[in-house]
Amino acid sequence: MSGVRKLDQSGAGSPNADLTSGPDLILLAPLDGWASPLGEVPDPVFADKMMGDGLAIDPTGSVLSAPCDGEIVLLHPAYHAVTLRAANGAEILMHIGLDTVALGGQGFTPHVTRGQKVRAGDTLISFDLDQLARSARSLITPIIITNGEDFAIAQRLENAGVARGQNLLTLRRLSPLPASAAAAGREFRRELVIPMAHGLHARPAASLANLAKSFAAEIAILSGDRRANARSPVALMGLGLAKGTVVTAIAKGADAEEALAAIAGLIESGMGEATAAEIAAPLRTEQAQAGMLAGVRAAPGLGLGVAVRLTQPEIAVEEMGQGSRHESQSLQGAIAMVKLKLGAAAGQNAAQSAILAAHLSFLDDPELASHAEAKIVEGKSAGYAWRDAIQMQIAVLQGLKDPRFAERVSDLVDLERQVLGALGGPQAAPLRDLPARAILLAEDILPSQLIGMDTARLAGIAMAGGGPTSHAAILAASMNIPALVACGPALLAIPDGTLLLLDADRGRLTVDPSAESQEQSRRQIAERHTARAMAQAKAHELCHTKDGVRIEIGANLGSIHDAAEAVAAGAESCGLLRTEFLFLDRQSPPGETEQAEVYRAIAETLAGRPLIVRTLDIGGDKPAAYLPFPAEENPALGLRGVRVSLWRPELLTVQLRAILRGIPAGQCRIMLPMIASLSELRQVRAILDRVRGDLGIADKIALGVMVETPAAAMTADILAAEADFLSIGTNDLTQYCLAMDRGNAALASQFDALHPAVLRLIAATTQGADRHDRRTGVCGGLASDPAAAPILIGLGVRSLSATASQIADLKAVVGRMTLEQCRRLAQKALTATSAGQVRELTLSMGDS
Ligand code: PEP
Ligand code: MG
Repeated sequence: MSGVRKLDQSGAGSPNADLTSGPDLILLAPLDGWASPLGEVPDPVFADKMMGDGLAIDPTGSVLSAPCDGEIVLLHPAYHAVTLRAANGAEILMHIGLDTVALGGQGFTPHVTRGQKVRAGDTLISFDLDQLARSARSLITPIIITNGEDFAIAQRLENAGVARGQNLLTLRRLSPLPASAAAAGREFRRELVIPMAHGLHARPAASLANLAKSFAAEIAILSGDRRANARSPVALMGLGLAKGTVVTAIAKGADAEEALAAIAGLIESGMGEATAAEIAAPLRTEQAQAGMLAGVRAAPGLGLGVAVRLTQPEIAVEEMGQGSRHESQSLQGAIAMVKLKLGAAAGQNAAQSAILAAHLSFLDDPELASHAEAKIVEGKSAGYAWRDAIQMQIAVLQGLKDPRFAERVSDLVDLERQVLGALGGPQAAPLRDLPARAILLAEDILPSQLIGMDTARLAGIAMAGGGPTSHAAILAASMNIPALVACGPALLAIPDGTLLLLDADRGRLTVDPSAESQEQSRRQIAERHTARAMAQAKAHELCHTKDGVRIEIGANLGSIHDAAEAVAAGAESCGLLRTEFLFLDRQSPPGETEQAEVYRAIAETLAGRPLIVRTLDIGGDKPAAYLPFPAEENPALGLRGVRVSLWRPELLTVQLRAILRGIPAGQCRIMLPMIASLSELRQVRAILDRVRGDLGIADKIALGVMVETPAAAMTADILAAEADFLSIGTNDLTQYCLAMDRGNAALASQFDALHPAVLRLIAATTQGADRHDRRTGVCGGLASDPAAAPILIGLGVRSLSATASQIADLKAVVGRMTLEQCRRLAQKALTATSAGQVRELTLSMGDS
């Protein structure tokens, strides 16, 4: 497709005098490495010469130098690509690695600026070869003559090692091509917004130029006062168009109108790139690129299987009943039947049991019952009345405008269907007859469809809607099934039986993956299974890094039942007992004895393992009927955590007494949530000392703080002077650092605790704690992510408290890395430009 004419590949050849003008230009190798033909670059934009002809070098050095004298006409803002214009007009693009625009400049150091004159051999860009090797798709560096219509390659070196400065390629200038016949005619203009997340970089510029070349019309793109010929990828890249930039496309000539429509269509389609909307939008509904959908990770893992679409049969109900007595009995009978079914369905793990229990309590909800009864009294049928009651509750939840409650809607829909099923309506689609390796596709899967199902046949779950904290997502994670949510409506157009590759860790669903990626993913899935089995076998060993640094892996608990599961999973301790379960959904707070008994039961189940009890962490978003919280504009920033305990010290006193009575001193540690300043710790310590005195307990009890506010992270040294330990709550720390509601499904794709800003707060915490020899742990959600563990350890964290199901994997991951490797990874993560880039680092670590 390139316009570069090939004269002779083997030698200088004998130029046709009619075609040449000026002497040949010799380009020197800009890199040390191995020179290959362009066709070997694993990217059709380069391999098919859409950008122009040239060759590629697989670099072994980390310096890119000027191949000839000239002027820098383009230095991409991500510093991965530079274009030099030689004195004879040849424009030479050097593009370091593939897809390196996504690194956003990370690992590249520019040594020139746009417009600068350089001499052959001058350093243009230096780069971190190691980092690129980890984070880029490939290091291969295409070297392209982008205005090839005017030049011919007379000679080039290929399939050979090259050293910087060595002769690489000889270019010959051809006589100017005839002027375009398109100049005459009407001019058409159109304003467009660049939607691609990475702007108009090399790949989209090449596609756009290619399209422009297929029309006779003269087409230009205007940005402010700058204008680029749309046929020139370099000129287009030179505009430096970032996402969201408004440009004007102008076409003039015979087929100008058609050309403009085609150019606009291509740009507006996102040009096969991830658009900003796909990356930022709440529900990423657009197709990210041909054959690939983007989604939000709800449960980690990789699955290869066939599409099975789940649709829910419509359940029609008669509006009018056959007498209120009859209808009322029918409804009560149906509810009782569903309760029996739920009660009999033993959950396979704590998550399933908790969700079954929640559904049982919904069925007992007095509001639902009284609303349905009132409808029956009005003459409606049992089914109509039940549906009406459920829909009324759904409207209430949706009206709360809190996405966490909105995610409970699918639980209500589930119960609506189950009760209507018990009244004789069609049941939810059975999942028993799945084909082997099924990937379920649905708008939203109902929890009851997943509970108790045979996970052996399930390779993955992808939902068009849903949120990462929905019950279906929690169930998928508890069953080790990779799952994506928020894939958008395009998901539901995938026909049954289509082969799919679901990569939850990268948030991608590939339709009809290539034979090569099928093979690769099969290998990875098998490796993960083996690794998991090995990890399970060693789950009960104490955790150390490969070079012997002790890392404690504990579990987060929220009930007595959780404690047994944690011990069975290999937990070495409990790094966070969330005590809220004792305080919510009741009319009065639990008394001292009731609490003490529960704490004792948990301590005994843990059989001497250290137990960190967090004092009550409720607030405006988790209301308790017996605590009349003042109305708050912004509950997440209001009365919650330790602030509640200090507002109502009598509650705290009872809780501290119960903790000290229930848990042996040697096993007991106490932790305070939502600390923002030292005075809070001091106030609680004074109450704790008084309680110890009252109970006659001489032993010192460790009192630690949670680091969940940026304030606590930045003053960790001050807190650590008096706190016995620090534990980072990454859920809240991320929420307050990024100013993003942790429960907002619309922000789920951006809410990532691996954001470098959060990592820097974690680093500040461990540094502050180290100054006073205090240990820092992590007990927020990030501790349950095995991919994040090496980074956390590299940042100085020495204990992780996770959900029980992740303990074996965490121990295995930690055991594979030395402290030095963790530190190196952490340093790279700290200087990454986005959470996505940090995730790529962790993934490349996993692949290597
Ligand atoms: C946290 O914020 O990370 C944390 C562990 O506390 P919770 O999730 O209970 O708010
Ligand atoms: Mg918290």
